[in-house]
Amino acid sequence: MKKYLHFTDGRKLELSNIYAVASNYRKHAEEMGTSIPEAPVIFLKPTSAFVSNGGTILLPNFSNEVHHEVELVIVIGKDGVNISENEARHFIAGYAVGIDVTLRDLQAKAKKEGKPWGIAKGFYTSAPISDVIPAEQFDGEIPYFDLLLKVNDEIRQKASTKLMERSVAQLVSFISKVFSLNEGDCIFTGTPEGVGKILPGDKIYAELSGYVSLTCNVEKYDLG
Ligand code: MG
Repeated sequence: MKKYLHFTDGRKLELSNIYAVASNYRKHAEEMGTSIPEAPVIFLKPTSAFVSNGGTILLPNFSNEVHHEVELVIVIGKDGVNISENEARHFIAGYAVGIDVTLRDLQAKAKKEGKPWGIAKGFYTSAPISDVIPAEQFDGEIPYFDLLLKVNDEIRQKASTKLMERSVAQLVSFISKVFSLNEGDCIFTGTPEGVGKILPGDKIYAELSGYVSLTCNVEKYDLG
């Protein structure tokens, strides 16, 4: 089924690939017992992971520890390959807030065994993304945002995207050189510290403060 990203000005764009970056904030890398990698560590989520604003995160019964990770999401507006950091802003259609929902227990096991994170990061409903703020709103510059995430009205994560170790321009450039970029691609740019467990019945609220917000319900998903 085709999925669409909705812009705050009414436009819509068909969702393409979903990329994500690991360990892009120092304090989060520390809370995970790791450090900033020498080269960006990129993983992917399938489009079936996408959830729009007001949707539901389904907790699969094969995990006992599902975590929220609030992140700035970059939406790509045109195809490109081998994009330089200086040109990166011309390929960005807009900005959104997303939650990189993670099966932390499965991820820890995969890390230990040297296996990929496909299930831990890409399961059904693991990629909620808000409506998209058009890039034109920022006069062609790449802005910084303040990220906030609350669970049941309690603040769990709060940080500026200024603290990213690799900038939006660096990530767009890097991913374009490895994978190429398509119109409709999304890039989750990494989470700040404060990740934690979510449970059935929780209400998750995330925002790019002053711009756009995302609300999700959490339910158990029994696979039988
Ligand atoms: Mg993440």
